[in-house]
Amino acid sequence: MAPSLSRRALFTRALAPRPAVAAPAPPAEAEVPQLAVVTARCLAENGAYCRTCDEACPEVAIRFHLLLQGRARAAVLAERCTGCGACLPVCPVGAITLSAGSLPASSSPANPGAAA
Ligand code: SF4
Ligand code: SF4
Repeated sequence: MAPSLSRRALFTRALAPRPAVAAPAPPAEAEVPQLAVVTARCLAENGAYCRTCDEACPEVAIRFHLLLQGRARAAVLAERCTGCGACLPVCPVGAITLSAGSLPASSSPANPGAAA
């Protein structure tokens, strides 16, 4: 048989402040995937031979599409890029940036209109 409580005890217990419950932790910022983006500053895009970022990428995520007049357009394969950032410091002209994963599923060709 359950122990009986007086009315006073019941009300006192019901009105007593409840212990604080910890709120769930917000999602970490690191969960937003980062992808490399090659901008129009790229030397290959402007007619000079350069594949430094490709050589530094551990995921082999950078492809070059040949263009006319000795130019090539670097494209980052979104399905391979892990956002590790290894390609950023090796670029001689700082043409690569990391962006929160908003790229097309297949690749991110250099953006001719990018100022950076
Ligand atoms: S290292 Fe920089 S300049 Fe060279 S190909 Fe890659 S993005 Fe272009
Ligand atoms: S961020 Fe890392 S995985 Fe992505 S293209 Fe650059 S070196 Fe490769």
